[in-house]
Amino acid sequence: MDEKILNKKAGIGPVVFLSAFSLFFLVGITLIFSSMFASVKASFAVTIILLFWILLSAVNLALNFISIMIKKNLFFPLSINNLLNRFLLFFAGIIGIFFLITRDRLEASFIEFNNRLIKLKKKHLKGEEILILLPRCIQNNECKNNVVGDINNCLSCGKCDILSIKTAIKDKGIKAVLVTGGTQARELVKTRRPKAIIAVACERELTSGILDTSTIQVIGIINIRMNGPCFNTRMDVNALNSTLAEILK
Ligand code: SF4
Repeated sequence: MDEKILNKKAGIGPVVFLSAFSLFFLVGITLIFSSMFASVKASFAVTIILLFWILLSAVNLALNFISIMIKKNLFFPLSINNLLNRFLLFFAGIIGIFFLITRDRLEASFIEFNNRLIKLKKKHLKGEEILILLPRCIQNNECKNNVVGDINNCLSCGKCDILSIKTAIKDKGIKAVLVTGGTQARELVKTRRPKAIIAVACERELTSGILDTSTIQVIGIINIRMNGPCFNTRMDVNALNSTLAEILK
């Protein structure tokens, strides 16, 4: 596959910049709100709560950024981290419109930001503790083998990336599953209870998956949509190999 496509990275700049900008925007909005309703007693309490929440989000963003820079895990537990990031990401998306930063670019940046943080957490997992979730559209649309149930049904013709994924996880005890949607993915996570998930999907799906899964480390790999969305998609298998090398025992 074209190296230029594989090496295209969003970088963490857009998400850090827009999240930081959101904080200033939120402080401004909160102060305007409090001055408008200064005569109402309850507005004081609301202002304090909002400012506290914004401060917490700012501290979280700073800790995340410092953790990535010094390569040390200093950030809050994932459940708090994801909650605060979800809050900032919402406003970052709105502010991104004014800076012509698309939702996809912001989400790609967030996924990279998240991946770099997650890789700072406890590594050295066993293969059995890792679950790889793949989108249904990664299978070549002409393939008649039922790899949704089990990727071992792939006959290794090499027309899609399933062959390379099978090779990447061979003899490592890792389970890789093609899922048809978010509901199936959530069910699978509930039953298998992995310690880490490597998910391959589009920016939108990965962002919501990362933010919804607060107790499990999720590393996202954005799929490559050379044929348009949800059709014969590809993935950067090198990214999968390097991620496995980093987190496996
Ligand atoms: S590599 Fe496997 S899943 Fe992909 S088209 Fe060939 S047989 Fe089907």
